[in-house]
Amino acid sequence: MDIAFIDLKKQYRTIQDEIDAKVHDVISEAAFIGGKYVRNFEYDFARFCNAQYCVGVGNGTDALYIALRSLGIGAGDEVITAANSFIATSEAVTMSGGSVVFVDCDPQTYNIDVDKIEPAITQKTKAIIPVHLYGQPAHMSRVKEIAAKYNLFIIEDASQAHGATIDNQRVGTFGDVACFSFYPGKNLGAYGDAGAIVTNNEALARQCRMAINHGSTEKYNHRFEGVNSRLDGLQAAVLSVKLRYLEDWTKRRCANAALYRQFLKGSHVICPTESTGLGHVYHLFVVRLAGRDKIRAALKQRGIATGIHYPIALPFLDAYVHLGHRPSDFPVAHQYAAEILSLPMYPELEIDQIEYVCAQLRDVQKNREVMQANA
Ligand SMILES: *Cc1c(COP(=O)(O)O)cnc(C)c1O
Repeated sequence: MDIAFIDLKKQYRTIQDEIDAKVHDVISEAAFIGGKYVRNFEYDFARFCNAQYCVGVGNGTDALYIALRSLGIGAGDEVITAANSFIATSEAVTMSGGSVVFVDCDPQTYNIDVDKIEPAITQKTKAIIPVHLYGQPAHMSRVKEIAAKYNLFIIEDASQAHGATIDNQRVGTFGDVACFSFYPGKNLGAYGDAGAIVTNNEALARQCRMAINHGSTEKYNHRFEGVNSRLDGLQAAVLSVKLRYLEDWTKRRCANAALYRQFLKGSHVICPTESTGLGHVYHLFVVRLAGRDKIRAALKQRGIATGIHYPIALPFLDAYVHLGHRPSDFPVAHQYAAEILSLPMYPELEIDQIEYVCAQLRDVQKNREVMQANA
């Protein structure tokens, strides 16, 4: 049995008629930039998050960059974020002119370790970017306490966590502003690059809306130099169709996660922790295990595709050698980068496929243990 890590074609087949009709509408109306498809999606996605404003953006990285910039963050400012994320999070800080300050991750949740935020705060700190990594919300009540105490902005990186909740409140409304990616593989994915900025701050929403469109409110009236990073009509139309399925797809992801836990029970695979009150949306199902690389290769031989999110923690990337970080600065992120493995996860994954992945994983792990015992 061959099992893909994610199967976007399978999902497309389930909504093909609706998508094709909508794409046809956009093209026949030539509603490529701006227009009703974009406005409708922005309205619907803000409602989905229970937020007031949504500004569609070209991609999630730009959403972060524009949010930081619109909050006034720039040269001389420090922004704190998690040592284990996708580079877009820290890249956006550098793009804004600010300096990124990494904080290690929590050994249980893999999200930013809230006990290590305060020691990282300096006179220059202006903001915290908690990342709701893998679909699990970060510890926002602590982040909010710290931000209030030191007068810092909170920018949620919710790129992996569309619809995730803390005590039934959706991510996207815990900070000053939240950023989403609709990269095709995300829980809500476009058919190309797309992203969004979500906020309850009207002035900030207006500032972001100008910034993504060359600093203009109306054509050729530019208040400042912005960028060109708009959500386009085709992507907005696709996203509007898919948004209606998102809650159902999230339920399936959660059901798949529960099946993984059930089929991996008693094995030497460490499953993600679940906490009461946290609505994890399982963008990824990330386990930890010894001998990760060998086990991953063996699974590949048996037709099972897996991923690593991420193989090198941010502070140790070539891009950040100039910061001079050592493994002992971020021991958890450093250790986990060698142990984590993302198992296939998507709503259309079927129970027998999950059972097969788990059976193969147990078998590969057992063989390894027998070999080690005999060595
Ligand atoms: C995907 C992702 C981004 C960036 O999104 P793009 O749309 O690819 O630019 C930012 N942060 C995290 C955590 C992500 O997973």
